Amino acid sequence: MSADLTAYRALRDALPGDCTLVAVSKFQPVEAIESLYAAGHRDFGENRVQELAAKAAGLPQDIRWHMIGRIQTNKIREFAPFVHLVHSVDRLDVLTVLQKEALRAGRVINILLQVHIAQEETKAGFSPQEVLGLCAQNVLRAYPNLRVVGLMGMASMTENRTQIRAEFAQLATLFRAAQEQLGVNQVRVLSMGMSGDYELALAEGANLIRVGSLLFGARSSK
Ligand SMILES: *Cc1c(COP(=O)(O)O)cnc(C)c1O
Repeated sequence: MSADLTAYRALRDALPGDCTLVAVSKFQPVEAIESLYAAGHRDFGENRVQELAAKAAGLPQDIRWHMIGRIQTNKIREFAPFVHLVHSVDRLDVLTVLQKEALRAGRVINILLQVHIAQEETKAGFSPQEVLGLCAQNVLRAYPNLRVVGLMGMASMTENRTQIRAEFAQLATLFRAAQEQLGVNQVRVLSMGMSGDYELALAEGANLIRVGSLLFGARSSK
């Protein structure tokens, strides 16, 4: 099981130089990760803690692991010591436990606030109002071991490109507001766009995209 290196190189070449590509390796075997690693890739994303921890334990130490999936607070301890960036901080519970575990691990963890931009009840995330509230008036001082470095969002599952693009535009606007509140030096990462919609995300200013199936082929399960 190897990654599609042709697709990988084509995507790399097409991306702006300041755009980070996170290869979403969930449900993929370690061999697929190793093949991209051999091609020089270092940023990988997983959405389940068990899988993330198991893969990280057996793969090179210089991989930057991105946690992108729904977080159960009782599993945070398993990735807090090594995770590079947590994209899916979607509720206050997660902030609270993540702070505790970052302190325990003796580090500051970079996080993104996940924002609910889709017109679907099922997609997790803070509302735009909640994000502004968190960024305002030193609320984040309660979490000294966490550093909010940006925002993450997922668009609706729809064929309607206009709607998807509008949702990304909404997140980009919120991103600029967060930059105004916390400073552009701190708030740098706008994580939006996947295999099916990354071009729309880039057009709206994404500087990190999370791409799975385009690089690894279809997943056997969801
Ligand atoms: C699975 C997943 C992706 C990648 O999806 P593809 O359509 O395979 O590119 C990106 N972001 C999140 C949060 C995911 O769960």
